[in-house]
Amino acid sequence: MRIPLSQPDITELELKYICDVLRTPNLSLGPNLSKFEENIARYVGSKYAIAVNSGTSGLHLCIKALGLSEGDKVITTSFSFIASANCLLYEKVVPIFVDIDYNTLNISPDKIEEYIEKSIAKERDFKIKAILPVHVFGQPCEMDRIIEIANRYNLIIIEDACEALGAEYPFDSNSALYKHISKNSSSNSSLFHDSTVGWRKVGTIGKVGVFAFYPNKQITTGEGGVIVTDDKELACLFRSLRNQGRTENNKWLSHVRIGYNYRLSDINCALGLAQLERINEILQKRAEIAKLYNEILKDLENIKIPFISPKSKMSWFVYVVQLDDSFSKEQRDKILKGLYEREIGCNNYFPPIHLQPIYVKMFGYQKGILPITEYVSERTIALPFHNNLKEEEIEYVCKSLKQELLIQKRQRRIY
Ligand SMILES: *Cc1c(COP(=O)(O)O)cnc(C)c1O
Repeated sequence: MRIPLSQPDITELELKYICDVLRTPNLSLGPNLSKFEENIARYVGSKYAIAVNSGTSGLHLCIKALGLSEGDKVITTSFSFIASANCLLYEKVVPIFVDIDYNTLNISPDKIEEYIEKSIAKERDFKIKAILPVHVFGQPCEMDRIIEIANRYNLIIIEDACEALGAEYPFDSNSALYKHISKNSSSNSSLFHDSTVGWRKVGTIGKVGVFAFYPNKQITTGEGGVIVTDDKELACLFRSLRNQGRTENNKWLSHVRIGYNYRLSDINCALGLAQLERINEILQKRAEIAKLYNEILKDLENIKIPFISPKSKMSWFVYVVQLDDSFSKEQRDKILKGLYEREIGCNNYFPPIHLQPIYVKMFGYQKGILPITEYVSERTIALPFHNNLKEEEIEYVCKSLKQELLIQKRQRRIY
């Protein structure tokens, strides 16, 4: 039984939408682009959505459009996919990695505060400009705390929500998020009047947020991403930057700034439109698969199943378990190899960014600076996870994992 780590979920609807585009002359910058952007904005609850050709391009444009540049510092997490830090390096901005929370695996607000206070005490020139939280594996970060810190030190929030389309964070009338929303989006605030408890989709809490649509994400456009914001000027700037620095009403060959070709074709947008129509069904399927895994694995010795926050609503991106202290990194790697040999797709999400060879070379980082990030990343195993995973496949994966754990335990006894 061969079981891939992930797999897109394409139905007749997706095929129909794509074929429909191919019968029109508008393969790029056509009606599917604007419709996809409108539907994304409506779904997440932002004023503007700007589609781009990858999540990475979206993050890059955020850094660029916010005017972050050489020598500026942005606080972020090392326990993430490389793109969330690389987007800073493109603009010579320095990523400051702080440690994560052991349960949520997201950036720790305490560690953010600690870093800022230390750097205020020692630096005359305050270079920290923004916080870039990543909602890792679809789990919302502690946004109330992050908003408070950002307000206190006048920092911009750039949300990497590439793994978290559909995840939600709660607010009540006393929360930092509620005050933040009412202050920042006056025309939207009626939406929230006298509601004591409401929910806000992640990605729409910061100044800007980015979602990604690579085939392993909750929904896919093949390749693609989208930036969301409530800021009209930024939205215009994003549209210009993704399209060679053109202004929207200007002539095709008039360029007012250095832009890029980060456009997303109408074929990709058509795929995205079909997927977005099915988003509720997709997220529900994923939640059910995670629940099945949880039920089978919750009592398994030496395994920690994913943390489920009692506060916010996660959107399942991957299913990642952690081994406990009794296993070394080498043993985890052998378990991955064992699963792989059984044709079960699996991976070590995430090796820390700060220990990637290019980051070590550029910044001289060494092991030991982010103990929780490093501890967790040596123990994670991402198991097969996609919308159409069958119950018997889940059972087979869990059985195989148990056997591989046992093999490693026995070897420990022998040596
Ligand atoms: C997927 C992902 C991105 C963007 O990836 P692309 O492949 O460029 O679309 C960025 N950040 C995180 C955390 C991701 O998981």
